[in-house]
Amino acid sequence: MQTTRVLHRQLQHLPPRAVSGSGAWITDEHGQRYLDACGGAAVSCLGHGHPEVLRAMHQQIDRLAYAHTSFFTTEVAEQLANHLVANAPAGMSHAYFVCGGSEAVEAALKLARQYFVEIGQPQRRHFIARRQSYHGNTLGALAVGGNAWRRAQFEPLLIEVEHVSPCYTYRDCAPDESPEQYGQRLLRELEAAIERLGGANVIAFVAETVGGATAGVLTPVPGYFKGVRQLCDRHGILLILDEVMCGMGRTGTLHACEQEGVAPDLLTIAKGLGGGYQPIGAVLAQGHLVAALAEGSGLFQHGHTYLGHAVACAAALAVQRVIERDQLLPAVRQRGLQLQQLLQAAFAEHPHVGDIRGRGLFWGLELVRERASKQCFDPALRLHARLKRAAMAQGLMVYPMGGTVDGRTGDHILLAPPFIVSEDETALIVQRLRAALDAALLEIL
Ligand code: PMP
Repeated sequence: MQTTRVLHRQLQHLPPRAVSGSGAWITDEHGQRYLDACGGAAVSCLGHGHPEVLRAMHQQIDRLAYAHTSFFTTEVAEQLANHLVANAPAGMSHAYFVCGGSEAVEAALKLARQYFVEIGQPQRRHFIARRQSYHGNTLGALAVGGNAWRRAQFEPLLIEVEHVSPCYTYRDCAPDESPEQYGQRLLRELEAAIERLGGANVIAFVAETVGGATAGVLTPVPGYFKGVRQLCDRHGILLILDEVMCGMGRTGTLHACEQEGVAPDLLTIAKGLGGGYQPIGAVLAQGHLVAALAEGSGLFQHGHTYLGHAVACAAALAVQRVIERDQLLPAVRQRGLQLQQLLQAAFAEHPHVGDIRGRGLFWGLELVRERASKQCFDPALRLHARLKRAAMAQGLMVYPMGGTVDGRTGDHILLAPPFIVSEDETALIVQRLRAALDAALLEIL
């Protein structure tokens, strides 16, 4: 029996002890190998043990591991910021480095609020966000998030946020409605929320460009984000896009919002930024926001001790240079097509797979008791957890998400393999997933 003093999330069933990783594979202490089909939580975009990233980290450690940002900047942080800004959506001029996704969202919320204070609009105090979303587990990020289960016990501690419907085509687009009409309906709902709060009182609308960790890869309908951008502009509201999970190449373009033809005011990125080699996230900001702070108080009133950590910046810079040099974005698109075709072949007729959706190497499967009615499995059956266990027994890592008690979202799994996943490994992912799903279903049917 393994004992540990580490407070794991699962207090009763300790996970296996990982000892090494190489490419798309992680090995545990017993020598069992797991094909990492989800990058942990869409993190490991270059897989494990990439020699160039390791070398860049070693070189940086040898020179300087850490220098506090109130005393110094570092060459590596500046190089990373330059690289990110050069490849960012139009108008984005600066990168603010943090240690992960939740921190990036917190920083974006505070930067947005401070911006309006600086330009003389301190009455703006509301955020609008979406149900069935996830923006992180710290209190501000949890408050904008719309994951009812994660919020439940912390509800009294959360700032008030207005939540509107996400783009959830599978469940919410009516049979007689085109995706475009559905998108327009969502925009009317958002506009009504803005009017209810008073457009001049709203700081920002916060949304994942492609939803990830709550309802499993919710892709936007055409025109939705263009409409969101227009609504925000009409009311002077900022648009914060959270691409912590879906960004940095995961959907086949560096930023998912490129495919929507919009540029946000603030863009949060994390997981694929450092690829798991170091904890790092960032907020990319439009020039006019930074200028307002610079001309006003001259200070972004926020900060954490490990901002812009030199080794984290070195790792992220190496990851991003490999993605660019090895042309991994076209590879994501091409491998993504293979994955899509294999998922369709394996699951399109499966009686308990209601929907297969995604982009690039970011795919979600929504599981249902019955396809015709889209009825969810009873959440108490914990199908997602059974599937995760069955997949691990097959030597496969997939990211599970539970269904909601109100039956609005079924159990899901999320696939986010590394950009370097091979053709054979991709086939193996789908083969093992099919076996794992059938084994998990056998336990409850
Ligand atoms: N935003 C999104 C869209 C995410 O998917 C996540 C993590 N799943 C976060 C924020 C929070 O990131 P972290 O866990 O690094 O704090």
